[in-house]
Amino acid sequence: MTSAALTATVDLDAIAHNISVLRETSRTDVLAVVKADAYGHGAVPVARAALAAGAAELGVAVIGEGLALRAAGIDAHITTWLHTNSADFAAAIAADLDLALSSRRQLAAVVAAARSAGTTATASVKLDTGLGRSGVAPDEWADFADDLAKAVAEGAVQVRALMCHLARGDEPDHPLNSQQAARLDDARADLVRVGAAPEIMHIANSPAALTRPDLARDLVRPGIAIYGGAPIPGRDFGLIPAMTLRAQVALVKRIAAGQGVSYGHTWVADRDTTIAVIPAGYADGVPRPASGRLRIRIGDRVVDQVGRICMDQFVIDLGPEAGGIAEGDWAELFGTGADGGQRAQDWADAVGTIDYEIVSGIGARAVREYVGAAADRLGLR
Ligand SMILES: *Cc1c(COP(=O)(O)O)cnc(C)c1O
Repeated sequence: MTSAALTATVDLDAIAHNISVLRETSRTDVLAVVKADAYGHGAVPVARAALAAGAAELGVAVIGEGLALRAAGIDAHITTWLHTNSADFAAAIAADLDLALSSRRQLAAVVAAARSAGTTATASVKLDTGLGRSGVAPDEWADFADDLAKAVAEGAVQVRALMCHLARGDEPDHPLNSQQAARLDDARADLVRVGAAPEIMHIANSPAALTRPDLARDLVRPGIAIYGGAPIPGRDFGLIPAMTLRAQVALVKRIAAGQGVSYGHTWVADRDTTIAVIPAGYADGVPRPASGRLRIRIGDRVVDQVGRICMDQFVIDLGPEAGGIAEGDWAELFGTGADGGQRAQDWADAVGTIDYEIVSGIGARAVREYVGAAADRLGLR
């Protein structure tokens, strides 16, 4: 254990289990998405654990995330798909990152970088098949395909994947999912015709990987499911939440009936009671709009969080008898949901968001710790 009073413990065996569930359910290889520091879990340890558990390759949003994985010695295939005008394509090519491209401008910049390095860049094509976000726009597609064929012919680019991202993957039966896949299949035929055939295709995010194996093509591209989140809230896929957020009680004290608690006194004790101060707040990713709605597991009890959540701390009501809870005890803020504790999904429900936002928003003050046999094998504890 560390001396930190706020910890996000990541169970790498849960990550490995979730990778297995994804491989079995999708009947396809997994490209593990570890963007945003692996949704707050720690990109390097999660990447290592995912690869050790059978993930075939990795994906991140921006080049800097891919370079950080390379700097840590990870040599797996890494795809990166969000680039601005200032993207350092030269560094990405030197680090052998797969650059998924969304426009002719990006392709031209990659070709220029490959030429000046005298090498062939690995590139993928991200097509907008209906998401309406990143990806080559439909009206640019024909010209993009021609540019790509020229880049392939001159040896500046080698085409790895043709990919798209689903707009409604969490509605498995929505017709748009199959339409997006059909548009990608058509685009593949276009690329074959112009002489820029991709080696592989991938489409499916977590919910699609778990419900639509027919969309998978060559790889599935899950993120949240790896972390044991809820790709389709309310549906159980046998995933295990990997992160448990814990904090050490900073203070236990008695307050009298009628005493308000925290800013604005939005909660007032209706009886003499005992409160405990938990050193985690919205700066750590505990959502302020969840004030008064969280349930915290401590000892063998689950108690109410009361009053406003502050930047660094919040308060729990232990009741008239402190129930043996003392300063220095550990409270579980969220985790697997066992023994009445909450999951990140419950926090998301409390504030009307998704668990993606909860886990990726856990701040740097929460010291990441790694547990599980996989953590031992990887030398992470
Ligand atoms: C984030 C992301 C994913 C993973 O999505 P999940 O819903 O977390 O599975 C897959 N593909 C792309 C392009 C992404 O940006």
